[in-house]
Formats: sequence, C-alpha cells, structure tokens
Amino acid sequence: TALALTGCSSSGRGGDATASAGAAAGFAADATIGIALPDKTSENWVLAGGLFDSGLKEAGFKADVQYAPASNTVAEQQNQISAMITNGAKVIVIGAKDGKQLGTQLQQAADAGVTVIAYDRLIENTPNVNYYVAFDNFKVGELQGQALLDGLQKRSGHGAPWNVELFSGSPDDANSAVFFNGAMKVLQPKIDDGTLKVVSGQTDIQQTATQGWKAENAQSRMDSLLAANYTSATIDGVLSPNDTLARAIITSVKQAGKNISQFTVTGQDSEAESVKSIMAGEQYSTINKDTSLLVAQTIKMIQSLQKGETPEVNDTTQYNNGVKVVPAYLLPPVIVTKENAAEAYANSPKLLDIVKAAQ
Ligand code: BGC
Repeated sequence: TALALTGCSSSGRGGDATASAGAAAGFAADATIGIALPDKTSENWVLAGGLFDSGLKEAGFKADVQYAPASNTVAEQQNQISAMITNGAKVIVIGAKDGKQLGTQLQQAADAGVTVIAYDRLIENTPNVNYYVAFDNFKVGELQGQALLDGLQKRSGHGAPWNVELFSGSPDDANSAVFFNGAMKVLQPKIDDGTLKVVSGQTDIQQTATQGWKAENAQSRMDSLLAANYTSATIDGVLSPNDTLARAIITSVKQAGKNISQFTVTGQDSEAESVKSIMAGEQYSTINKDTSLLVAQTIKMIQSLQKGETPEVNDTTQYNNGVKVVPAYLLPPVIVTKENAAEAYANSPKLLDIVKAAQ
C-alpha cells in the first residue's frame, strides 16, 4: 500500500507524536503481531488464542500468541511482551493479567513505535495504551443485575424480600469493578428499598472479590457465607460475575443441601458447561460475548493500522485508565437464559447443539 509518509521518519518509528497517536505510518503487510493473553481459566481466552492465530494468518500477518503460565503470571506476561517488542512485533494485543503492572513494558513499546491494543481488559496507569477493544463491560454488569432480579421473581417461589449474596471478579482485572458497578446500578436501589437482603452484609467490592477469578476461591467464600448466614435462612440468589464462578457457587449451594431449582445465579461468557447447566435449570443466566466477533474487530483494527489509517472506535468517554481516556471499540453483550438460548446461539454451532440436545 502506498503511504503518505510526509513528516514521518522513514521507519515510522521513534517520533513521539507517531507513537502516541497510535496510528503509525503503516507497516509491512506480513508483519508480526503479538498476542499476549492472561491465562486459560475461562473458555473465552482459550478460544481467543486459536482465533487470533488463524485469523491473523489468514489476513497475511505472522501471529505470535502467548499465554501467561499458571504460576508467576504477571512477571511472565511482562517478559512475553518485552520479547514481542524485541522480536519486532508491530502491534501487540494484550489481555492483561494485571492491568496495573505493564507500565514499563508499554513504555518500551511506545519507544519502539509499537501500537498497543488492550483486549477485553483495560490497561491502567499508562499513557501508552493506544486502543481498547471489548464488550461493553458496564452493560454486562447491568444485564447481570437485571437477570438476578428476573430470576428471583421466576424461580424463588415467593415474593420479595429475597436473600442474596454478591460476588465480584479479581481485583487485578479492571473489568471487575466495571461489571460490579453496572450490576449495582440495578441492585443497589433494591437493596436500599428492602427488596433484596444481602444477609452477610458484604456489599462492597473488596468484600465480594474473587482473587484470580478462581473457582476454588468463589466456592470457599460461598461455603463460608452459607455456614455463617444460611443454616436456617434460605439463599435465593447470587450475583456471579462469570460462568466459572457461577458453577463453583452452584456446587457449594448443592453441597449445603439447598434447592437449586429455586436458586438464581447469574454468569458471563457462555461457557459450554454453563450453557448445559442453564438448559438443565440450574444456572439462571449467562452473557454471550461472542469471542469470534471480538477477535474479528481487533484484527480489523490491526488491518487499519497496517495501512497507516486510524482504526475505527465508537467510545471516547468511558474508559479512563487513570492517565487518559483510551479510545475504545465496544461490542454489545447479550443476556442469555433458557428462554432465548436457541436464538442467542444461532451463530454458535457448538452451543446451539447443546441447546438443541437439551430441548
Ligand atoms: C473477562 C470475562 C472473564 C473474566 C475471567 C474478564 O476480564 O471480561 O469474560 O470471565 O475476565 O477470565
């Protein structure tokens, strides 16, 4: 592609304006693109790695897809990103393990003229994140809060007040607070007017956090909550920020001998096991954030950057990372329950099979 290089150094590197604008003067059509993903704790990350690898290759790029390993994750992700820069990646897409600990690596990226796209999770406290691509996280939270209320009405077998508990995600993930704040926008007024009772009294984000988004941490917190507050009281529902945690919470509630069919728990990610659980009448809801759409949107951004164009964004106000508002492209999340599962997964053959097999 012929590029207008006027005013740029011939390599397109090094100029501060070029680096911070994020739209460098384009780069080779077969350049290497680095993809740094946090872990494999949720199905969506596993899917994303495969889709980036095949999608980038199809688009003519070389793909360097890395996952942070299970131990020493933050340091390893930092090393992986540094290595990508050293190896000449032109764009690095990052699903951050800890979004507050990449400042040094991102400075290195900026100095080398590498464009950084935060993928799914925002990267905080650095000016050197150029773009953000994600599903609308606040909307995810609102949908979860509303689903909890709907589920309580439909399943509990009684009217308000309902006894509930609240869970949030890992504190090192910027999304966790956004999901929780979105949900609380819906739930807080219902707590205030007595419709919902958080029997444990644990309603702030520190108390509700699930370190590392780990199932075992959610399960043990739920075990403790049940033992301390629900030996005689009924637990009607739980706000869970994702599917992995929802299933852990269900396990805990079952082990305590509680009735799952009258219990409501929310989720997120449309993991296969949770779709099965929803169809079996256990988990109440999930969110469909079609990973293939998010990966495709990211690759579209990379293709614009390759041509030296400014990638399209649709939000320039919401994602302040502590230093600046990061221009974002947000996709709409979809709430899924048993009722709309077939429709919601019309374009996801694997999930649709699960739905059909259960109908
Ligand atoms: C993602 C969720 C996921 C969670 C745990 C979040 O940042 O947005 O989809 O469930 O991380 O992996």
